[in-house]
Amino acid sequence: MSGGDKLDFEIRPNPAPVSVADRAALLANPGFGRVFTDHMVTIRYADGKGWYDARVEARAPIPMDPASAVLHYAQEIFEGMKAYRAADGGVTMFRPYANAARFNTSAARMAMPALPEETFVDSLHRLIEIDREWIPDGEEGSLYLRPFMFASEVFLGVRPANEYLYAVIASPVGAYFASGVRPVAVWVSPDYTRAAPGGTGAAKCGGNYAASLAAQAEAAEHGCEQVVFLDAVERRFVDELGGMNVFFVYDDGSLATPPLTGTILPGITRESVLTLATAAGHQVREQPVSFAEWQADAASGRLREVFACGTAAVITPIGQVRFPDGEFTVADGEPGRVTMALRQQLVDLQRGKAADPHNWVHRV
Ligand code: PMP
Repeated sequence: MSGGDKLDFEIRPNPAPVSVADRAALLANPGFGRVFTDHMVTIRYADGKGWYDARVEARAPIPMDPASAVLHYAQEIFEGMKAYRAADGGVTMFRPYANAARFNTSAARMAMPALPEETFVDSLHRLIEIDREWIPDGEEGSLYLRPFMFASEVFLGVRPANEYLYAVIASPVGAYFASGVRPVAVWVSPDYTRAAPGGTGAAKCGGNYAASLAAQAEAAEHGCEQVVFLDAVERRFVDELGGMNVFFVYDDGSLATPPLTGTILPGITRESVLTLATAAGHQVREQPVSFAEWQADAASGRLREVFACGTAAVITPIGQVRFPDGEFTVADGEPGRVTMALRQQLVDLQRGKAADPHNWVHRV
């Protein structure tokens, strides 16, 4: 199949699923990204053939030839999103077509084939339907969905591969930060940058995350949960965090976030926050914010709140900022009013508890 026609999934239920009792024990404290459901989706692609062999099958290791292109040249992309147990017992996803669109933007940047958006969303539906019992209950729990695609062609030449595997796995998760909704400390990396103009910063490719690990490790050494990356050209402006976008809230009620100039990931939470904040009457600017301004505005009191946002962390206040020459606190270091109000609004929407004027909530 290629183009927009519908792909049929072959369903092969796992013959040995996790027992009900074992599943309940795993769901009691899933942590993040360690527990997985019984099934996965796989779809193959070959040049000239298009997408084929769509399956829902038992989650299992994927056999790989040692010369598979992805193992050498990292031609790989992924997405991250969540399914929620709604207040009425149903299941919701948040803006899955936005993830489908971003997946294809990432694919284009990495010279990979596009996956029809309908097939992307359908693949999530199939996995959620068969592994529905794995969605945790409760305010913080959700089923993290990880669609990904990699070059599976067995070939060592450096060129776009002509065979790919798309897959989706799912992982029940609790709160992303161990401290719950408490302000986190961030480390402003003096040495490492994440993405240069013309590079892959706006694509969700594995290589971006591989390149961020040394900086993330440095952040952890300084007692920080996340790293802040500055722009690669001047090392002056804030780009984003290791896995989240960032917003600044000022004393006049306005918000600012770095613009999408190709070096930061266009977060779906970021875009949703821009819309929600505007609707709530805040003035919102997509504009460069320098680290010097961040420091000066925190010192003067003009800067009232800073928060990080993304699928995993939802909206999380940033309290402490550390860098090689020192550290400072944003306001009193406690969760801010605007941050927490936006967070509540987003959480209520995602779980089907609030009116949905933008049609963001997708029922499964
Ligand atoms: N930036 C980076 C580098 C990320 O990995 C993520 C998480 N996908 C985000 C921002 C936030 O994106 P989203 O709101 O779509 O999860």
